[in-house]
Amino acid sequence: MPTLFKDLADLLEKIAATRKRLEIVSLTADFLKSLDAEETEPAVSMILGNAFPKYNQKTLDISWTTLSKILQRVTNADWKIFLDAFSSTGDIGSATKALFEKTTLKKQTILFTKPLTITEVRRNLEAIAETSGSGAREKKERLLTALLSQASPTEAKYLVKILTHEMRTGLHEGLMEQATAKAFDLPLTTVQKANMTLGDIGEVAATAKTKGKNHLFTLNFKIFRPVKPMLAQTASDINEALVQHNGETSFEYKYDGARIQIHKQNGKVQVFSRRLTDATSSLPDIVESIKNNIVAHEAILEGEVIATDNSGNPIPFQHLMRRFKRVHDIADAAEKIPLKLYLFDALYINGKNLISLPYTQRRQTLSENAGEIPLTTQIITNKQETAEKFLQEAIAAGHEGVMAKNPNSPYTPGTRGKHWLKIKQTLDPLDLVITAAEYGYGRRHEWLSDYYLAARDPETGNFLTIGKTFKGLTDTEIINLTRQLKETAITEEHRHVTVIPKIVVEVTYNEIQHSPKYNSHMALRFARINRLRPDKQPEDADTITKVKNIYEKQFAKKGRYKTEP
Ligand code: AMP
Repeated sequence: MPTLFKDLADLLEKIAATRKRLEIVSLTADFLKSLDAEETEPAVSMILGNAFPKYNQKTLDISWTTLSKILQRVTNADWKIFLDAFSSTGDIGSATKALFEKTTLKKQTILFTKPLTITEVRRNLEAIAETSGSGAREKKERLLTALLSQASPTEAKYLVKILTHEMRTGLHEGLMEQATAKAFDLPLTTVQKANMTLGDIGEVAATAKTKGKNHLFTLNFKIFRPVKPMLAQTASDINEALVQHNGETSFEYKYDGARIQIHKQNGKVQVFSRRLTDATSSLPDIVESIKNNIVAHEAILEGEVIATDNSGNPIPFQHLMRRFKRVHDIADAAEKIPLKLYLFDALYINGKNLISLPYTQRRQTLSENAGEIPLTTQIITNKQETAEKFLQEAIAAGHEGVMAKNPNSPYTPGTRGKHWLKIKQTLDPLDLVITAAEYGYGRRHEWLSDYYLAARDPETGNFLTIGKTFKGLTDTEIINLTRQLKETAITEEHRHVTVIPKIVVEVTYNEIQHSPKYNSHMALRFARINRLRPDKQPEDADTITKVKNIYEKQFAKKGRYKTEP
């Protein structure tokens, strides 16, 4: 019996209603057990708020403007109902449910249609993503309208959450790993490892269901399926890194560029961005150089690409982003903005998975296979003075700082651990998400130029405001940002526009203060947008826990004012 989408929506309602992790895991595990094999991956993806598995390159490409128009049309209800519900819950899904409950259309036709199943919803989402070419917009709208017209209020709530990638039930990927382990009677570490290898927890659950749990113990990477990147934590200085790594540490230049993951098999090369999107066609020069240099016939490698001037000196990051986004005149852009690749890791070479090997061995294998492509500039030392000098050299050469890596550490995909530490010289900027914006004054009165900045609460998935700024962006950037923000605008009142949290910006500041003004009770002082981070998603934004830690750390040097918590 195919599982109904209603059952999935009911499960999500129950999950959202509890804060008990064990209960969430157990409800989800029972649900996973009840699914058919082919429903498993789609259901897991949707429960996590994803239309498709992570490695999949498909995108729905639906703007909030389009979606809200369809919601209005499908319900024919007063939009004020949506806005009121949104302002009391802050949740587009719940506001959609309220709207659907007040529909003025008689749903007679629906009585005769069959209820939606999980498989049908996935098929619909695929059809929406695959629509392209002339008339694509109208076709997308038709498909969306058809899908939403079949939905009950609760189903519509979760469909909209999936369509906007805004699930926020408190069930994050870590808990889904636990639920998968419970459902298929597997050790959690096996599930976690399989998730790192396959890059998608839905596929792990589906594999456990169809191929049996033994299969999960022997998984390997698949070439051309990107792996989630290993991430770095921040260290405040060289000494902290040396203490953390207990002596010998690999220090490397931290290049201010974009990370790429290279997949090669025989003559074919594919390059993925940090967000795991396929950037191959934007980077023909890099692809060519990989084809000409990489020795291994099969390889998964990582490196950082920077933009340079014609004499090879690094130039600002925004130029690099232009190369990544370019779809037309690629050859021209490649000539105007030359790129330089520095390799730093090897995950897989000729059928062998290297991630459990110590970093020094992976790097050795990398150097044997890199041809003429340079590796990141590196020293291995346990001496503070030598490392400090190296950091100064990195900064003098126009780079961001250094990475300090534990030479004995494995590669842990998708985790931000302490094996890699980034050290920059200034207060570490924060990656924050824009949750609202206001129109400016004077010259800027038609632009959304004052931005509310929020950090992520990993517990709830909500975003908590920690500051506001109108500083740092160029006019062109503000104009582009205004257009993007308007596409995701939810409410507009007195020149204040709330938006779906989508856009990530890197923000510098000089202090974090206690403040009753925002729901986080903290406020950045002298916040300034350093740059846009189109390579990051809201899930990659810094957490409120990190902000609190920085707030607390300030008091190592300062006294505490009486009213500060
Ligand atoms: P962040 O994006 O601030 O978390 O810093 C980590 C990023 O620094 C990585 O994802 C890489 O894109 C980049 N990076 C620059 N140089 C290196 C290096 N030598 N090793 C690893 N990552 C590097």
